[in-house]
Amino acid sequence: MENTKDTLIELKHVKKVFEDGVTVIEDLSLEIKKGEFVTLLGPSGCGKTTILRMIGGFEKPTSGELLLNGKDISNLPPNERPINTVFQKYALFPHLNVYDNITFGLKIKGVDKKTQDEKVKKVLEMVDLEGFEKRSISTLSGGQQQRIAIARAIVNEPEVLLLDESLSALDAKMRKEMQIELKEMHKKLGITFIFVTHDQEEALTMSDKVVVMSDGDVQQIGTPEDIYNEPKNLFVADFIGESNIFNGKMVGKKLVEFGGAVFECVDDYAVDTVIDAVVRPEDVEITKAGEGRIQGEVLSCDFKGIFYVTNVKTDKAEIEIHNLKSYQIGEKVGLDLAPDSIHIIPYDTSINHYEGEITEYEPEIGLRVVFEDFSLRVPAAQIFQGCKTENGKLLDAEGKEIAWEGRKVIASFAPEDATLSDDADAGFVAGDIFNFIYMDDHYRYRVRSESEEDYIVNDEYLWNNEDHVSISVPMEKFSFELKKA
Ligand code: ADP
Ligand code: MG
Repeated sequence: MENTKDTLIELKHVKKVFEDGVTVIEDLSLEIKKGEFVTLLGPSGCGKTTILRMIGGFEKPTSGELLLNGKDISNLPPNERPINTVFQKYALFPHLNVYDNITFGLKIKGVDKKTQDEKVKKVLEMVDLEGFEKRSISTLSGGQQQRIAIARAIVNEPEVLLLDESLSALDAKMRKEMQIELKEMHKKLGITFIFVTHDQEEALTMSDKVVVMSDGDVQQIGTPEDIYNEPKNLFVADFIGESNIFNGKMVGKKLVEFGGAVFECVDDYAVDTVIDAVVRPEDVEITKAGEGRIQGEVLSCDFKGIFYVTNVKTDKAEIEIHNLKSYQIGEKVGLDLAPDSIHIIPYDTSINHYEGEITEYEPEIGLRVVFEDFSLRVPAAQIFQGCKTENGKLLDAEGKEIAWEGRKVIASFAPEDATLSDDADAGFVAGDIFNFIYMDDHYRYRVRSESEEDYIVNDEYLWNNEDHVSISVPMEKFSFELKKA
């Protein structure tokens, strides 16, 4: 991976904690090559602007390294970095004309008038606004102001242009045009663009490389095709494009079961591996009733201009399909999937694991295990198999006393064994929902506690982001693993 020859910017284990103590970026590592068009893509609030501001020099990383051409620039002020930013709000000076807006930075640097004139002419050509020097900012349309903001940034001939949601203020048509123009500008200039957007379509159409983020963490880095076709996890699969997501498991060599049928697939995982299967709507084949491997009934069918979106209800799920045909509501159809249209993501077995410590033993009620967020009363035999109690002491199968005090254990539970409640005291731990995904017949929620631990819960009911909930798991559904003493 160390292809440092054409690496321009490198973030190594960058962490950002704001003064109020909130960690926005946990541990970010990212490499950006010379001349690349890189897009940071993620929902609002996930830390995109914070990353740009660190690269631009407006914010300092709390820890980690920020390298430009191999040198740490963490302490270099913005104006000494060969980097310019086009902000979300254009930040043009409304009382100055186009020329004075563009030359503002050049004047401070003491560039002579003749050079200023030449440079302004050149960048106005670049953004397709030749002859606009004397125009006042207030007479320009949103799209023109956007171009002036870009002209003002590139007039300094930066090595890197940072663009923070630069197109989001434009209407849909203007936005499409500017997307194309930005790409052309990128080619002409030959410099590195780091573009930020929460719009996945924009990211996929414009970029060489997309960095998909959620909540300060990088979820996946790849080309637009990689990210769309081979999403690494459910967040990426759900965030990028439309998808049908199923819970299932491997039942044979390259055989997977989900949605009530068995399918051949191209991925090979051990039998019984629990998986999530991602199927894009354009990859589902609609057959005659009785012919496909899944049977269902058409719930809806809507024309979207180029294709139809059809929703089919089956025994187990509701499946979205995109194709060129229209179907009657209520029509019986079959559905089928080719092996290469099923993308399998093995279940992340490290989720919902929490380390705690045994602090107490009472023969009548068991062991108390204290975790960062919660504590549990656990029947002793669930942690020490085959143990028994004699005279108030905990003994192992051979009758030797067990040294339970201070022992560390890992507790875990499966998402499907947990349920949510809006009564904060009903469960063993409480937190806020910050992300959810619709699965075949339920939702999968991420709940974050106050101490920023995450819990994954499958629940059939629809909750919303930011709902405050508590999580319940029947005691017998917890697994406990003793750490080596
Ligand atoms: P994005 O650009 O992806 O929408 P931001 O980087 O602007 O996200 O913000 C990420 C998180 O950091 C948000 O929760 C935001 O409230 C918080 N944040 C941003 N700037 C500051 C700041 N100066 N002090 C405290 N928190 C901040
Ligand atoms: Mg932002």
